[in-house]
Amino acid sequence: MKYETVIGLEIHCELKTATKIFCGCATGFGAEQNTHVCPVCLGLPGVLPVVNRRVVEFAIKAGLATNCTINQYSKFDRKNYYYPDLPKNFQTSQYDLPIAEHGFVDIDVDGRKKRVRLTRIHMEEDAGKLVHSGTTINDSASSNVDYNRTGVPLLEIASEPDMSSAAEARAYMEKIKSIMEYIDVSNCRMEQGNLRADINVSLRPAGSKELGTRTEMKNINSFKALEDAINYEVERQAEVLDDGGHIVQETRTWDPERGMTLSMRSKEEAHDYRYMPEPDLPPIVTTAEEIEAWRKSLPELPDARRERLTKDYGLSDYDAGIITASRPMAEYFDAVIATGADPKLAANWMMGDLAKHLNAEDKTIEETPVDAKRLGEMIGLIAKGTISSKIAKQVFDAMWTSPDGPEKIVKDKGLVQITDTKEIEAIVDDVIAKNQKAVDDYKGGNKKAIGALVGQVMKASKGKANPQLVNKLLAEKLG
Ligand code: ADP
Ligand code: ZN
Ligand code: MG
Repeated sequence: MKYETVIGLEIHCELKTATKIFCGCATGFGAEQNTHVCPVCLGLPGVLPVVNRRVVEFAIKAGLATNCTINQYSKFDRKNYYYPDLPKNFQTSQYDLPIAEHGFVDIDVDGRKKRVRLTRIHMEEDAGKLVHSGTTINDSASSNVDYNRTGVPLLEIASEPDMSSAAEARAYMEKIKSIMEYIDVSNCRMEQGNLRADINVSLRPAGSKELGTRTEMKNINSFKALEDAINYEVERQAEVLDDGGHIVQETRTWDPERGMTLSMRSKEEAHDYRYMPEPDLPPIVTTAEEIEAWRKSLPELPDARRERLTKDYGLSDYDAGIITASRPMAEYFDAVIATGADPKLAANWMMGDLAKHLNAEDKTIEETPVDAKRLGEMIGLIAKGTISSKIAKQVFDAMWTSPDGPEKIVKDKGLVQITDTKEIEAIVDDVIAKNQKAVDDYKGGNKKAIGALVGQVMKASKGKANPQLVNKLLAEKLG
C-alpha cells in the first residue's frame, strides 16, 4: 500500500433536553415550521440567553463517559458567520475552554482493538433549517427558513486523526452512538439528524509521520454514507496524488445518489470566524463534587457491560459485543435471563432467530413482537426438555404472530417432545425395518449412515422425538 489513510471525525450530537440551550422553547422534532421560537432563539435585540443546566450536565456526562478531563472552568464563545439559518449571525459555541477534552474510546475492527483519542467535547447551539421549494437551493423558486431547530443543544465531539480506514471510522461512530445512548443524553436517530459527522480525510505516504492535506465532508448522517464517502474520497485523493497533483484543502459534500464527493467551498480557518468570548453568558464553573456526583450517576457503559457478559455468562467476546453495542439489546438480554433462562441460549436466540426475524421485517429490538419474557420462558421449556431446540423454532415463529405464551403454543399445537423410550423405540424399530440400505452401510463401517436414520425417526415423529434418545436407541439397536 503506497498511501496511508488518516481520518478524524467531528460528530455533532443533538441532546435530548426538553427545551433549547438558551431559552425555554421546546426542542421537539417535526413540529410545524417556526412554532418553537421566541425572541431569544430568533436573536431579536435586547434579549439575554440563560444556559440550560441540563445541557451542562449532559455534556459533562458525555465527557466522563469518554474518559475526558472535565474543565471546571469553561466558557462560551461566539463563532461569527453569516447564513440565513443563523438569525444572530453568530453561533454560540465554545472555543478555547471547552467543557471536556483529552478523552478516548476503544474500538475493535475484525477483532483488533484500537484506541481513538478525543480532542475535545464542546457545547453549542444548532442552526435553523432552510426548506427549499425544490430539491436544492439552486433549483428552488423560494426557500423558507425554519427556526425550530435554532438553539437546540448540540455536543461537538472531535476526535484526533487516529482512524485509518472506513471500517475504523464506522466503529468509532458506532461506539460514540452507543455511549450516548447508554448515558441517555441523545436519541441518536441518525436519520433524524440527531447524530451527524463531519469527516476529515487525508492520505500520506506509507510510513510518513507528517499529515497530508485533508478534505472535509459535512453532515454525513448514516453509517453507509460514512463508509461510502470515505472510500470514495480515499480513491479520489490517491488518483490526484498519483497524477502528481496536490490535494486542495476544502469542504466537499457527499452525494449519495451519484456516489461521489463534490467540491463545495474552500475550507475556512478558525480566524475567519472571529471567535470572541460570549459576553451575555457567565462562565460555567463546576465543582469537583458535582463532577464526582455525575460520574457516580453514570450507568455501566458498553465496554464494561461487554466484559461482564463474557466473564459472568461465558458469552463469546463477539456475541457480547453485539448484544451490548445497543442499550435496548443489552436490556432485552438482561430481561431474558431474568426469567431464569440460560444466558448462552439467550444470546444464541437473540443473535439467531430473533435477529433474523427483525431484519426481515426491518424492525428494531424495541419493536419486537416477541418480548423478552416469552423468549425466556421458551428457553426454559428447552432446558426442561419439554421441547427440542428444533421444535422451539416453530414455537418462536408462532410467538412472532401470536400473543400466546410458549407453553400454550406447545400445548395447542401438540409440540411436546417425546421422551418416552417405549414410544421412540417403536418408531426406531420401524425405521430400521424400512431402511435396510442405511443399516447395512452403518454395519459395514460407514458410521455416518446413522444420520440418515436419525433424520427418518425425527421425521416420523414430526420432529418431536428427543434427539439424544433417538441417537442412543439407534446406536444400541445397531450394535
Ligand atoms: P476544523 O474544526 O477547523 O475543521 P480541526 O483542527 O478542529 O479543524 O480538525 C477537525 C478534524 O479533522 C479533527 O477531527 C481532526 O482529527 C481532523 N484532522 C485534522 N487534520 C487532519 C488530517 N491531516 N487528516 C485527517 N484528519 C485530520
Ligand atoms: Zn426560544
Ligand atoms: Mg474543529
